[in-house]
Amino acid sequence: MSVTSHPMRSRSVLEVRSHFLPYHLPSIEQEEIDAVVDTLRSGWLTTGAKVKQFEEAFRAKVGARHAVALNSCTAALHLALEAVGVREGDEVIVPTMTFAATGEVVAYLKAKPVLVDCRPDNLTIDVDQVERSLSPKTKAILPVHFAGHPCDMVPLLELARSRNVYVIEDAAHALPAWYQGVMVGAIGDITCFSFYATKTITTGEGGMATTQHGEWAERMRVMSLHGMSRHAWNRYSAEGSWSYEILQSGYKYNLTDLAAALGIEQLKKCERFWKIRERYAALYHEGFEDLPEIIRPAVADNVQPAWHLYVVQLDLHRLRIGRNEFIDLLKKYNIGTSVHFIPLHLHPYYRRTYGYRPADFPNARACFDRILSLPLYPKMSEADVYYVIDVVREVVQHYRR
Ligand SMILES: *Cc1c(COP(=O)(O)O)cnc(C)c1O
Repeated sequence: MSVTSHPMRSRSVLEVRSHFLPYHLPSIEQEEIDAVVDTLRSGWLTTGAKVKQFEEAFRAKVGARHAVALNSCTAALHLALEAVGVREGDEVIVPTMTFAATGEVVAYLKAKPVLVDCRPDNLTIDVDQVERSLSPKTKAILPVHFAGHPCDMVPLLELARSRNVYVIEDAAHALPAWYQGVMVGAIGDITCFSFYATKTITTGEGGMATTQHGEWAERMRVMSLHGMSRHAWNRYSAEGSWSYEILQSGYKYNLTDLAAALGIEQLKKCERFWKIRERYAALYHEGFEDLPEIIRPAVADNVQPAWHLYVVQLDLHRLRIGRNEFIDLLKKYNIGTSVHFIPLHLHPYYRRTYGYRPADFPNARACFDRILSLPLYPKMSEADVYYVIDVVREVVQHYRR
């Protein structure tokens, strides 16, 4: 069907808001600006004291023994797999319902990403399928805490332990999130966070790997800066020396002090931001309660999601329009949305390289047609949330079968 410029003029009681409500906006306040300016004035821009301070604060926050700051979550995932020994010819189990980064880091190491389906209720990894996909070549499992909802970690870890494979968590969405009272970041072998511009806290670009194992932390630290034995900060500070050794052929994945200065301030606000997102998610939940056309995200017992995203699924049998038309209609009402994600197995690279077909993962395939992510971030107002609710209700009422 075609979408006209005023799709519901005849029935609508809603005024279209005058300003576009973006799908996401970062919350950058005076503290962040001051911290970056101070760092600019300090004369030390790249990895140094601010990065150390950020790592220490982050480690303490999630309850991990070690934290290694990196310039992206992608870098963290890459180094985490490298640290636990993923090598050419190994297999790593990856959910198909994720972002490009989760799969590509496996390919960086010439290992094979073995895709598995998601659960239809919260779109996290299907643990039964993980079990069926394990092989003697499996070296690691890479669950994604989708939208900030923790995966079911107890059966996943039991499975991994019994088969001698590592669990590297993609927690790009999951700060802060709790699973059975334990914070994501202190659960699996290595956990990887993102501070990309749209994530729950941001440094523009940035990431963090947390672990309880000193050896892995050290390996990631060394590999993050050319495989060198000591960091520039040690080399150029008063107590450092000029000497270093190249221990490995490493990468250039270090975080800058400029980014860390931002991160330190954002981390202090992490809890405040989360409370707002949780409240807004509850408003959405209530707002769509009586609409069978809108399938709300399920929350498992004894978890607290980070609410990075609020992903609804449309019950397409009850609507006369598809997801894409739904998105276009929200845009006409000046509301930005997004889709998380186009499953990996539908992309040309995965089809061509590994022979995946659309029907291989029916849950992900079906969910993909139904999902959309509504705006959810602390910088939007409660009135913005109510506006989104009203518009979604209006669209549903107009286009229900
Ligand atoms: C954003 C994202 C990443 C990558 O994070 P970067 O910091 O941009 O590298 C990885 N996995 C998922 C699920 C993401 O959404």
